[in-house]
Amino acid sequence: MVAAAERVVVELREACAAPAARLNEVAAAMEAEMRAGLREEGGSKIKMIISHVENLPTGNEEGFFYALDLGGTNFRVLRVQLAGKEKPVAKRESKVSIPPRIMSGNASELFGFIASALASFVADEGRSNVFEDKQRELGFTFSFPVRKTSIASGTLSYWTKGFKIDDAVGKDVVAELQTAMEKHGVEMRVAALINDAVGTLAAGRYNDEDVVIGVILGTGSNAAYVEEASAIPKFEGELPKSGNTVINTEWGNFSSSCLPITEYDQALDKESLNPGEQIFEKMISGMYLGEIVRRVLLKIASQSTLFGEINQTKLETRDILGTDNISALHHDDTPDLRIVAEKLADNLKIKDTSLETRKMVVEICDIVTTRSARLAAAGIVGILRKIGRAVPGDQRRSVVAIDGSLFDHYAEFRQCLERTLVELLGEEASRSVAVKLTKDGSGLGAALIAAAHS
Ligand code: ADP
Ligand code: MG
Repeated sequence: MVAAAERVVVELREACAAPAARLNEVAAAMEAEMRAGLREEGGSKIKMIISHVENLPTGNEEGFFYALDLGGTNFRVLRVQLAGKEKPVAKRESKVSIPPRIMSGNASELFGFIASALASFVADEGRSNVFEDKQRELGFTFSFPVRKTSIASGTLSYWTKGFKIDDAVGKDVVAELQTAMEKHGVEMRVAALINDAVGTLAAGRYNDEDVVIGVILGTGSNAAYVEEASAIPKFEGELPKSGNTVINTEWGNFSSSCLPITEYDQALDKESLNPGEQIFEKMISGMYLGEIVRRVLLKIASQSTLFGEINQTKLETRDILGTDNISALHHDDTPDLRIVAEKLADNLKIKDTSLETRKMVVEICDIVTTRSARLAAAGIVGILRKIGRAVPGDQRRSVVAIDGSLFDHYAEFRQCLERTLVELLGEEASRSVAVKLTKDGSGLGAALIAAAHS
């Protein structure tokens, strides 16, 4: 019966295998999709949205700015004080996790929730007169696919990451927010609408002008980068002064026959709120890695007696295993894998496991996370190739700013991503590429872009 469990793991390892040759195919497919998206070909999976962010922060911005950051798991309100590059950014921040009822309610509940959090944040500031009679400006990080119409407007295309609020689709999210803010008596102007990838790019750029790509590895996954406006066939209107614009790739929706997809991914996708969509995201981001592992463990439980006579109710519960748990299992360095034993017992009611069984569980985490980190690296390489960076003859330094708890808190993931970049780019070229954790870049970036466009 142990053999049956081992077979499941062997098959998983084979199905998840992503050797360099395969990752190069993924990078090439990603690059081709990006080019198609820039031409606006209907068939392209990646939308390559022109963000209308033409002024990235320079470090010369000054004053107080607010930001709202709606990710997939958390919601943040912040106020920053900018006083030039030499002085650190002073921040005041509040964070709440998004209540599940909000994620599947209606638009006015969602925007009411956001506006009321902003109203109490402002109320807590008291009568500080830092604004005197100046207009308060706000940047809004809304990390879902939006069709941008200008720097501060855009309509929601579709929901991802477990959100499903049907009446918000097709609406201008800034107009909705502004209405809700008025109802809550908050007087502020929304100066910029962005998403977390664009925000991370901007926050990275504020400190380092060689930042050219922003990547999110949190609940979901996305990337944004700086593109020459003249290289975008679908660009309409006057070219920006800088010649550059920021493209929000929405790479989470990438899919390709070269992706190492398993039966678990297929089942997860089929039972998700958005089947057939966000295939790349579902293979790599924090909302899904734990769920993939759970499905593998369930298969083992149904095909072997490895876990003993267990009640499978817990193991059959969707999303019971978060990616933070996978990280804890994976990093257990106790000799007898005590943390693995505890997590299995507490979270899944799998008790009295042998050391061999615990090792097998760790291996499953390793397989799933390794695939994820390697695919994320392949996506980054696809973008670098698209913009001619880190290729022979390119002398420029290219920095990739990354935000999100998966990257921030999962060391094995982060190290694997970094190793894979070197593997794919080669020792020499990879020396010109740096990866930089840009903590809370998504929210800070919104304030910075609001400042740069105010
Ligand atoms: P958001 O996507 O809302 O901006 P985060 O960047 O914090 O939020 O990402 C949240 C995701 O990160 C969740 O899916 C969660 O499972 C995952 N996560 C949180 N902590 C860890 C951790 N220690 N290791 C790996 N993943 C984590
Ligand atoms: Mg975030």
